Amino acid sequence: MLQVEHIETFYGQSQALFGVSFSVEMGEAVTLMGRNGMGKTTTLRSVMGLTPAAAGHIRFAGRELTAAAPHAIARAGIGYVPEGRRIFPTLSVLENLTATAAPGRAGGGTGWTLQRVFDMFPKLKERQRQMGALLSGGEQQMLAIGRALMTNPRLLILDEATEGLAPLVRREIWNCLEALKNDGLSILVVDKNIDALARLADRHLIMDKGRIVWSGTSEALEADPELGRRLLGV
Ligand code: ATP
Repeated sequence: MLQVEHIETFYGQSQALFGVSFSVEMGEAVTLMGRNGMGKTTTLRSVMGLTPAAAGHIRFAGRELTAAAPHAIARAGIGYVPEGRRIFPTLSVLENLTATAAPGRAGGGTGWTLQRVFDMFPKLKERQRQMGALLSGGEQQMLAIGRALMTNPRLLILDEATEGLAPLVRREIWNCLEALKNDGLSILVVDKNIDALARLADRHLIMDKGRIVWSGTSEALEADPELGRRLLGV
């Protein structure tokens, strides 16, 4: 479904990605791991067209998205939950959910509505008239996920899915992602919780210095503690 081929991305003169290639198949959950500064966020931002790749190709559902603008990439069916949530602080929960919503997307939307988002995150329903800035970190993350779902994506991308959240809220987010996966949504996720990632995902990619240096299943990841020490700093 998503095919990333040999992308190279720069910040000015400084190269951050060196020929990154991977794919995410329909209904698959894939993780991107690696120590800080290895290129995970840059990879996700390149896919979303926010930090465009200078070379290589990005295709989604058969469409070439390499030079597409972020809004076109979102419209093509990729939902993005950025690091730090980036919700609209001065808009209400309701406005956050509806501002970028794309109901009834042509070509395979899964039919997300306000009601479905509220069923998944009842706290958002309770707080729907509150300003985004007044929510807790966990509620903001739920809002960021809900906002992405309201664009009716076929692939959901999350950067640092549970960073800075309390254990109970983390569990809620992981449960939500598992339910979304079981519902057939494709997921590409960055996080530091390797155990939760191994439970959720089918396949894992590890980045080191702007390259993907390892890929494998949860079993392969868990069977190799040296991998964690060498490439993940755990
Ligand atoms: P983290 O978990 O710390 O976010 P990461 O694996 O997501 O790490 P990136 O944020 O993609 O890594 O960073 C990859 C490289 O690009 C790093 O060397 C970083 O210093 C550099 N970099 C990231 N953002 C910028 C920027 N806005 N300007 C210049 N260099 C940047």
